[in-house]
Amino acid sequence: MTNLGPSATVDARVPHDLPAQVRHLIDGRLLDSSDGATFEVLDPVTNEVYLHAAAGGGTEIELAVAAANRALDRPEWADLTARRRAGILTRMADEIEARGRRIAALETYDTGLPITQTAGQAARAAENFRFFADLIVGRHEEAYRVPGQQLNYVRRHPLGVAGLITPWNTPFMLESWKLAPALAAGCAVVLKPAEFTPLTASLWADIGDAAGLPPGVLNVVHGLGESAGEALVRHPAVPAISFTGESATGAHIFAAAAPELKALSMELGGKSPVVVFADADLPAALDAVVFGVFSLNGERCTAGSRVLVERAVYAEFCQRLAERAAAIRVGEPSDPETEVGALVHPEHLAKVLGYIEIGRSEGRLVAGGGRPEHLPEGNFVAPTVFVDVEPRARIFQEEIFGPVVAVSPFDDVDEALRLANDTRYGLAAYLWTRDLDRAHRIAGSLEAGMVWVNSHNVRDLRTPFGGIKASGVGREGGARSLDFYSEEQAIHVALGGTPAPVLGRPRHGIEGGGS
Ligand code: NAD
Repeated sequence: MTNLGPSATVDARVPHDLPAQVRHLIDGRLLDSSDGATFEVLDPVTNEVYLHAAAGGGTEIELAVAAANRALDRPEWADLTARRRAGILTRMADEIEARGRRIAALETYDTGLPITQTAGQAARAAENFRFFADLIVGRHEEAYRVPGQQLNYVRRHPLGVAGLITPWNTPFMLESWKLAPALAAGCAVVLKPAEFTPLTASLWADIGDAAGLPPGVLNVVHGLGESAGEALVRHPAVPAISFTGESATGAHIFAAAAPELKALSMELGGKSPVVVFADADLPAALDAVVFGVFSLNGERCTAGSRVLVERAVYAEFCQRLAERAAAIRVGEPSDPETEVGALVHPEHLAKVLGYIEIGRSEGRLVAGGGRPEHLPEGNFVAPTVFVDVEPRARIFQEEIFGPVVAVSPFDDVDEALRLANDTRYGLAAYLWTRDLDRAHRIAGSLEAGMVWVNSHNVRDLRTPFGGIKASGVGREGGARSLDFYSEEQAIHVALGGTPAPVLGRPRHGIEGGGS
């Protein structure tokens, strides 16, 4: 049963008070688009339209940027000390925590992600706000003294209005990962959430309000990438764009932002390798491989979607991986027993199923291979394992962004490295071995922005997050995020010992009458 509004019959999997509409948040007010345009949002379990979201374009972006610019100048935001700004961020974290179950329920309904995993993402969103609140209070400022000559110090100004563009895979958490540092740095923001999943972004209005965030500091404009997103990227009064999404979209945004010479932070796609040596703790490696590629429905930028296994343990590892994949519980996303839910959208389902068809001629299918039999409707895909995949295969090279993994054998360290680095992407890499000497040597040679040794993706928010090659430009995380949203200004103060070389000094005999 699928009901669409609060008045319909109760369906346990539909969150209570599900809104039927989502509006923009501009200058502290919830608004429809000026032309009344909306777009449809689908429930991934039924693919029925359950929500109409306001579809913004140039007009709404203009209004939001103007509101953000006004907010930047208001003393109630501009004049806050770091401690006071941190106070607002901490209260936002408290408000997120207080709404944790609600956020998870809405996110699961909108994205199809398993409820236990969206609960974890909601907690992480709160942690993002707490982390950046702490960071700005403790942050030192730079000053340099040249004895007797100069005192030089660095002032940080908020960059201005930051444009934030986010994807659908963990929407609320990724929005928080950009909002928290941008606000911590003192910016005002315009957020353009992903159009597949606008639901939880509608909570920011209340969260900001309850935490005392002044109106206009945080604006949300919903809409399609080509209209709302593009207008934000091209707006001359938005000096920075922080984007997370596909590499192809990132390349397009680079070009669109070029005429205004904007600062860009790009977190893009991935096809991350997991390298498993024969001496590894194999049960732990297996757990991490299974979790790394099948959690979040495989819709995870850092998914270990290529698994390279040393030949001596290859056959056994493949067999165990296939068994575990086949045993994963695929089902209703709101059921706490569910481990893989429904993919976000039928278009994405078609893409993932397309890759599974391609994989049938590129590798040996040992688990999954399409829709699970017990789920004939909705965007469900059985966790799928292809083994004996050649490096030239498309399922080895291209980001599938679903519960599909390609496994290949290797014979020695050189081959492992060659295979690991043999894609256009370079986001994450995972390494499993008990030989720590080897681990350190190999870690440095992996073409990836982030490497985990004997671990799945466990984040330390102080470390840089981001990729190389087609996986991104720039790094977020820790102080780097604050740097991105700040403009540094060097101020040089003379202490009396820096007389300038004199040009144009009057010569005797020319000036002064020559008498
Ligand atoms: P996407 O590129 O299709 O869309 C991302 C956002 O960009 C959406 O809000 C969309 O509306 C907007 N957009 C699209 N076209 C635009 C344009 N012309 N101008 C401005 N904005 C535009 O990505 P997606 O399908 O939503 O997300 C999945 C991708 O995101 C995967 O490739 C995944 O690896 C990547 N991702 C990367 C990270 C990371 O940190 N590296 C994290 C999560 C997801």
